[in-house]
Amino acid sequence: MSTILISGGTVVTASGTLDADVLVAGEKIAAVLARDVTGAGEAGDTPAAVAADRVIDATGKYVLPGGIDVHTHMEMPFGGTFSADTFETGTRAAAWGGTTTIVDFAVQAKGSSLLATLDKWHGKAGGNCVIDYGFHMIVSDVNDMTLKEMDACIAAGVNSFKMFMAYPGVFYATDGEILLAMQQAARSGATVMMHAENGIAIDQLVAQALAAGHTDPVYHGLTRPPELEGEATSRAITLAKVADCPLYIVHLSASQALAAVAQARDTGQNVFAETCPQYLFLSLEDLARPDFEGAKFVASPPLRTKDHQDSLWRGLRTNDLSVVSTDHCPFCFKDQKELGRGDFSKIPNGIPGVEHRMDLLYQGVVAGQLSLPRWVEVASTTPARMFGLYPRKGVIAAGSDADIVIYDPQATQTLSAASHHMNVDYSAYEGMQITGRVVTTLSRGSVVIDDGEYLGRAGHGTFLARGLNQYLL
Ligand SMILES: [Zn+2]
Repeated sequence: MSTILISGGTVVTASGTLDADVLVAGEKIAAVLARDVTGAGEAGDTPAAVAADRVIDATGKYVLPGGIDVHTHMEMPFGGTFSADTFETGTRAAAWGGTTTIVDFAVQAKGSSLLATLDKWHGKAGGNCVIDYGFHMIVSDVNDMTLKEMDACIAAGVNSFKMFMAYPGVFYATDGEILLAMQQAARSGATVMMHAENGIAIDQLVAQALAAGHTDPVYHGLTRPPELEGEATSRAITLAKVADCPLYIVHLSASQALAAVAQARDTGQNVFAETCPQYLFLSLEDLARPDFEGAKFVASPPLRTKDHQDSLWRGLRTNDLSVVSTDHCPFCFKDQKELGRGDFSKIPNGIPGVEHRMDLLYQGVVAGQLSLPRWVEVASTTPARMFGLYPRKGVIAAGSDADIVIYDPQATQTLSAASHHMNVDYSAYEGMQITGRVVTTLSRGSVVIDDGEYLGRAGHGTFLARGLNQYLL
């Protein structure tokens, strides 16, 4: 079994930092060896004496558990096109950015079965991923068969079911359908994930805007007001309470929605929420960029006015927001986003981001908005626990998978489409200068990114059958 010693670094986990060397044997972490930084110990028991096939010098660097992005959409069908990253290009880009696990969404088409959908997504991802992956199931057609199939999905390692209060006619589920699915999920302890926006009301606002000749991308934002995210979030929380079902609000963007989540958590309800980097760093001003450039920033929920950003950072500190994922759903500006020229409602929804989540969140550490352990917690440890992957993933500890990122906290870089690795022709963060950079990424003991060089392989990544949400009693 080949061994790697990562020496000299500072190990950062959700529980703190430790000057320690990390020994990797095969696919697992074999030992975390605290260094005697006082110099008082015997020379013979310093970790440097551990023999390894390869030694990686991490002096001056952070050694983190690999990032876990629980919200990605590779090759996702949307409005007659597909998101531009394949499972191969998307997971490669993730590895460049220090993410070693994704949980993507299998998308049930109306009239199809959940298990057939799962097979289809296994077909897309199998043999193509560079890092490990799992699936959530999007339930867009609630009926007796799909309700029964939910248990079979759980047995197949897919125990989180996403539903939509938005997109009438596509993914939208009625309150009654949501209640039925929540009751079914609750019987098995599974979690329902919710896209919480009032799509019925939004569709009216969209029709009014188009009728008035308002076709620019900014109207995507203006027709999806934060109040309608707050309302839907409250309604989802109420339905989950009635069904006694764990609820996870995806891509929370608005302070109104955060207030609803905080209130539910204060009463002890099993309600959790994630936000995404775009809601922390971008705003409605980006959607209003001229010459159709705003289309690059069209996603749902939409980017909000900047005052929402402070609430979200605060929510991350107070744990009312437990996770940061990307909702990575890239569509090229040319030919894809351009489908919506002259009609903002036809712009494919999604922003590329799987590569930059760890880096962007680290800017919160630099700015004093997040502690170093909290960075690791929201980007790796909590996602692992929330979606049944811990302690195999999400921690640097003996016995865990050797998914490890060596991070240089002093390096600087400029984000750009010219240098990123996502298969998309623009960057939502073009020209942004940031501090910190991934140096090395290991996936199950294999070096995927090695000091600026890609050494990974499509097919290295394996499917992760996940357990239940570990925050439930
Ligand atoms: Zn999404």
